[in-house]
Amino acid sequence: MAKHKTLYEDCDVLVVGGGMAGTGATFEARHWGRDMKIICVEKANIDRSGAVAQGLYAINCYMGMQWGENQPEDHVRYARNDLMGMVREDLGYDMARHVDSTVHMFDEWGLPMMKNEKTGRYLREGKWQIMIHGESYKPIVAEAAKKSADKIYNRIMITHLLMDEAQENRVGGAVGFNMRTGDFHVFRAKTVIVAAGGASHIFKPRAVGEGMGRTWYAPWSNGSAYALPIAVGAKMTQMENRIVLCRFKDGYGPVGAYFLHLKTYTQNANGENYEKKWYDQTKELVGEYIDHHPTPTCLRNHAFIQETIAGGGPIHMVTTEAFQDPHLETVGWENFLGMTVGQAVVWASQNIDPKYTNPELTTSEPYVMGSHATCSGAWVSGPEDLSPPEYFWGYNRMLTIDGLFGAGDTVGGSAHKFSSGSFTEGRLAAKAAVKYINDKKAEGIKVTDKQCEDFKTSIFKPLETYQVAQNEITGGTVSPSYISPIQGLQRLQRIMDEYVGGIATNYMTNGNMLKRGLELLAWLEEDLEKVGAEDLHQLMRAWELKHRALTSQCVTEHTMFREETRWPGYYYRGDHMKLDDDNWHCLTVSRRDPKTGKFSLEKVPVYHIVDENEKRKAS
Ligand SMILES: Cc1cc2nc3c(=O)[nH]c(=O)nc-3n(C[C@H](O)[C@H](O)[C@H](O)COP(=O)(O)OP(=O)(O)OC[C@H]3O[C@@H](n4cnc5c(N)ncnc54)[C@H](O)[C@@H]3O)c2cc1C
Repeated sequence: MAKHKTLYEDCDVLVVGGGMAGTGATFEARHWGRDMKIICVEKANIDRSGAVAQGLYAINCYMGMQWGENQPEDHVRYARNDLMGMVREDLGYDMARHVDSTVHMFDEWGLPMMKNEKTGRYLREGKWQIMIHGESYKPIVAEAAKKSADKIYNRIMITHLLMDEAQENRVGGAVGFNMRTGDFHVFRAKTVIVAAGGASHIFKPRAVGEGMGRTWYAPWSNGSAYALPIAVGAKMTQMENRIVLCRFKDGYGPVGAYFLHLKTYTQNANGENYEKKWYDQTKELVGEYIDHHPTPTCLRNHAFIQETIAGGGPIHMVTTEAFQDPHLETVGWENFLGMTVGQAVVWASQNIDPKYTNPELTTSEPYVMGSHATCSGAWVSGPEDLSPPEYFWGYNRMLTIDGLFGAGDTVGGSAHKFSSGSFTEGRLAAKAAVKYINDKKAEGIKVTDKQCEDFKTSIFKPLETYQVAQNEITGGTVSPSYISPIQGLQRLQRIMDEYVGGIATNYMTNGNMLKRGLELLAWLEEDLEKVGAEDLHQLMRAWELKHRALTSQCVTEHTMFREETRWPGYYYRGDHMKLDDDNWHCLTVSRRDPKTGKFSLEKVPVYHIVDENEKRKAS
């Protein structure tokens, strides 16, 4: 252990993860906390990290309030509709009322925004999306964070949160290790903002073997945003609400600009509009939700999945009409250049020119995230002016652990934030974290050396395990005394895929399968004590796996608890196939007891604040 130096840093605000939410938090913390010490710690390098690493072609959340295009209420209704009623409207409204100011800053900072030549307004791709030349989106927001922080630590993976030993249920910082030097880093902090992105690779991906790593969601998003708070007993919400995406096959290229701007549409292999065919069947399952406009994303997936099961595949995107227009053809290709170059390469390798051949679509493996079209994540306090008492405990975006805040994918209940909304939520969390410190809520935090040393032993254990057990390798990489991170990952993915509603079962699960899944996850957890890492990179893989495994347990517990199929197309409870508003028009909240590792779950009311307020005003 002596070969791993221990380095200490004390600070006021510690931001874990320098993606969209983390850069927003770092920037805003400086605005409110002029004299405070602000540190951002990132697993990769904030210039090119997180889901926006290779750029985006559209900012998916912009109200356009200055031109009267949309109001925050409209966005709340939109997100509520898309999530089949289940969102935290206080959080959604709060994000929406601030998001335009964030986008205006991006514009000032030099992000190339496309403009409508006639109106001078930002060019709309859809009702909420505006188009950008966004290859350099991430370096631009990273620069704002770099200018704001006292220090940015790149290449450090945070593995555990530190807890205050003087006052129960209060955070005290975080620890992790540098993946290049092997140093152990202790960050003692008055507040911690977790902004570590979503979780890919917990369900078995469609692309395995040589294609492994080709997922829609960023492959390096490993669920730390969930595992860190779950491990210390923070409450989580809507973790069952995993997302499945309809995307171009094999490259997962985006479809938003195609649907919205190019006006392309889908059809089955016989050239039929298959969505219509499944209307009656879907109505049987979810009632009037199928008549909502726009059709909730999960229900469109549902028609796709059912049509494929019924033998109507492959499903195609009809591009051959739009691509006859040279302008639209350019937009179609540029869309990939800005964010998913790989899709163009896949098409080239498969001899597909979308001008002459309609490309195939697919539904992805499930991912867990809180900022896109689903809302898994931490249960946080809302803002004081909007939130009902059950949703408010003092500081905006504070988790159920004092001093621990969240933003972006970390935060549950508030879908459709996307890149701009995640940055905005980071700003909101940072403002509240600074207030928490100024209110003297972070006085007298005690973190002993013993707590840190215990974590140090645990963090580097996989290196020791490998060191000892490598001599017992019986063939290839197989040793009776350890499992490698990739072996553990594949085992995890198979459990989640086959028992918790992955692609193997066409997203189907039930109570019995979930029970079995939980048993297998418990065996895996035990075996992960024996994970071995041959170098520092594999040590990172080992900890990513542990975070994924804990996230998966939480997802499975939630899926078991909600005895209905609320989002057909994201997953199905075969034993409860119908949406059940009488019993399940509610949010689910879990807590894992850090001492016993047992989860407890509860239902929490979902308040429809926006329309309630309007009803009240009218009466
Ligand atoms: C494929 C794809 C396409 C998208 N398209 C669009 C779009 O067109 N328009 C749009 O507006 N939005 C889009 N989004 C959504 C947008 O990218 C996300 O909403 C946003 O990035 C979420 O912000 P975040 O900070 O929560 O996560 P991220 O931006 O992913 O940042 C998380 C950060 O935490 C770091 N991290 C993770 N674990 C640790 C750890 N243990 N220790 C230290 N650091 C850690 C990561 O390296 C990363 O930098 C897309 C997302 C994806 C995946």
